[in-house]
Amino acid sequence: MVPPKQSNTIDFDAAKLQRAASQDTRTLSRRPLDLLELRQQLNLQLQVSLEAERILAVFFREIQQMLPVEYMAYFHAGADLRLEFGEVARHSADYRLTHASEYLGEISFRRTRRFSEAELAQLESLMACLLYPLRNALLYRAAVQSALRDALTGTGNRIAMDQTLGREVEVARRHLLPLSILMLDLDHFKQINDEHGHSVGDDALRAVATALKNSLRNVDMVFRFGGEEFLVLLSNTPGVAAVQVGERLRAAVEELNLAADGKRLPLSISLGCATLNGGESVDDLLRRADSALYEAKRDGRNRLACAS
Ligand code: GH3
Ligand code: MG
Ligand code: MG
Repeated sequence: MVPPKQSNTIDFDAAKLQRAASQDTRTLSRRPLDLLELRQQLNLQLQVSLEAERILAVFFREIQQMLPVEYMAYFHAGADLRLEFGEVARHSADYRLTHASEYLGEISFRRTRRFSEAELAQLESLMACLLYPLRNALLYRAAVQSALRDALTGTGNRIAMDQTLGREVEVARRHLLPLSILMLDLDHFKQINDEHGHSVGDDALRAVATALKNSLRNVDMVFRFGGEEFLVLLSNTPGVAAVQVGERLRAAVEELNLAADGKRLPLSISLGCATLNGGESVDDLLRRADSALYEAKRDGRNRLACAS
C-alpha cells in the first residue's frame, strides 16, 4: 500500500460527516438524489458479506458511479489486512477510520485528477456507509482468527491445522509441488511439569513456540495440535530441505535458555519428517510423520527421523 501522505481522521460519530453530506446536497444541487441514492444502494450492497475484502471491493466498485477513483487501498495491521484495488495514481485522499475511539483502519484513494472539496465531501459521506459493515467484518475476522489460534502459544490450533493441511495438500497436488511436514514433541516434558509446576511448563511451551516461529520463513506455518506436540507445515519444500529446517528447529530449542528455581531447564524436541507422496491422503501423511517421530523418540530423543 502507498503510505498515506497526509492522513485525515474519519470519526464516524462526528457530526462533521452529516454536515458534509447535507452541505453536499445543497452545493451540488444538480444531483442531490444521486448521493442519496448511492448511499442507499451502498447500505444494501455492503450488507452482502462479512468479509472485509468483499465489502471493500463492493465499495470501490459502487463509488465509481458517482466519483471515479482509480485506486483504493485499505490497511489494518492488527487485523493483518492489506488490500489494494485498481491502479495507483498521483492525487490522493487518505483517511484514518475510527468509531467511538475504536480504530477501523486506514483507507487511501488515488486518482489522476485532483479531488475537489465537493468531491472529498461526497467521498466522506459515502465512507459513512462503510462504518457498520466494516466494523462487523473486523469483528468477524477477529472471531475467526481467535477460533483458529491456540490461546497459550499463539500458533495455529488443531482446527487451523486440519483446514490448512487439507488446502495445502490440494494445492501441492494440483501444481505438482513438493510439501513436507515436521511433527514434533517436547522431550520428557512431564518431568518439567512435575518438578517445577504447570505454569513453568506453560512458559516452556510458549518459549518453544516462539523459537519455532523465529526459525521459520513467514510462509511456513506452526500448529499446536496436542499438549506438547506441534506440527510445522512446509509448503513447496522437498524432503532434503525439510530435514535441514527440522535440524535448525531442533538446535534452536536446544539452545533456549529458560531457567526455573535457579536452574536451567533442559529443553529438547524430537521430530518426525514426512514428504507428501503422489496421491497420498492427509491422514496417511500424518501417520508417516507420527511413525518417524516415534522412531526419533525410540532412538534417544533430541533428534529427527524421516518417514520412509
Ligand atoms: P516424551 O519424551 O516421551 O515425549 O516424554 P513426555 O514426558 O514429554 O511425554 P508424555 O506424553 O508422557 O507427557 C506429556 C506431558 O505434557 C503431559 C502433560 O503434563 C504435559 N502437557 C500437556 N499439555 C500441557 C499444557 O498445556 N501445559 C503444560 N504445562 N503441560 C502440558
Ligand atoms: Mg513429550
Ligand atoms: Mg506428547
